[in-house]
Amino acid sequence: MDLRQQADIPQLDVLVKSIGEPAFRARQLHEWIWHKQADSFPDMKNLGKKLITHLEENYTLNKIKIHQEQRSADGTVKFGFELFDGNIVEGVLIPTENRMTACISSQVGCSLTCKFCATGYMDLKRNLQFYEIYDQVEFIRRKAMEYYQAPLTNIVYMGMGEPLLNYRQVLQSIEKITSPEGMGMAPKRITVSSAGIAKMIRRLGDEEVKFEFALSLHAANDAKRSEIMPINEQNSLAVLKEALQHFIAKTGTRVTLEYILFQDFNDGLEDAAELFLFCQGVPCKINIIEYNPVSFSPFVNTSGNRMYRFKEYLEERGMIVNVRRSRGRDVDAACGQLAIRQDSSER
Ligand code: SF4
Repeated sequence: MDLRQQADIPQLDVLVKSIGEPAFRARQLHEWIWHKQADSFPDMKNLGKKLITHLEENYTLNKIKIHQEQRSADGTVKFGFELFDGNIVEGVLIPTENRMTACISSQVGCSLTCKFCATGYMDLKRNLQFYEIYDQVEFIRRKAMEYYQAPLTNIVYMGMGEPLLNYRQVLQSIEKITSPEGMGMAPKRITVSSAGIAKMIRRLGDEEVKFEFALSLHAANDAKRSEIMPINEQNSLAVLKEALQHFIAKTGTRVTLEYILFQDFNDGLEDAAELFLFCQGVPCKINIIEYNPVSFSPFVNTSGNRMYRFKEYLEERGMIVNVRRSRGRDVDAACGQLAIRQDSSER
């Protein structure tokens, strides 16, 4: 078993006492695991031979390993991470003028089959453990320092997988990332993005989470949304809207609605009008995301002109709208492009 399955101070306390070691060893061990990010038990230099031998005989430390790294001309860096069982997930470092953002994965593959997304064409293989999510952030954090001499400022759960279908591990990873013993990052710097599982959005509200939440909306019309996101069939727009309102009421945080403009599908003024209607009673901002076509998807990005009209329609009605330009497109690191090459070429 990976030691990090039970690596809170009280659990480590029980562990060290069970072999007759003094209580302060639990704190030392905790620091090696979470703060110093030791790669192996023998690296934990001050623990003493007896404890290290016990750890080696009874536990593993399955840190993720770098499998592949690709740097985009725009500075974005995509990482393939190998997990202990050989599975691979992807994470991305996105440097902009004011931010260093890590985009990380929560599952190996995805079960939700969104039609515009490369990951949606892979099968779901398994959920990530919270420490596998944490490892991605830690790795990307170090690379931000190494390549850009800048600290990580933001984390987005927008890589492979649907975070709310790996609910407990995702929340546990955020607890660790934000705890002083972990990275001590402010929760407001973290955004969990979901394709829309209404009952889990309500649950986030009930737990009064402190991080940001984004819904990948992409259409404010049930027929269109179901066409590109089959999850909409069980989570209609009306149900999602109620769930968002519950989340906002409980957390006091407005949400972000992500909207990719697909040419001649959801980029007309009538689509903007539907989006505006959906937003009534939902304190939110809208992120228009530039689409990066993937070879097996029929969709293409809208034109600059139509995007401008769409944005203007909403802004004239008082909405906050940001446009998120594509990053890392040349290395398939952009939104919707994350998929393991081998899987996509097998199709
Ligand atoms: S967009 Fe997200 S939820 Fe949809 S298939 Fe891709 S990874 Fe899964």
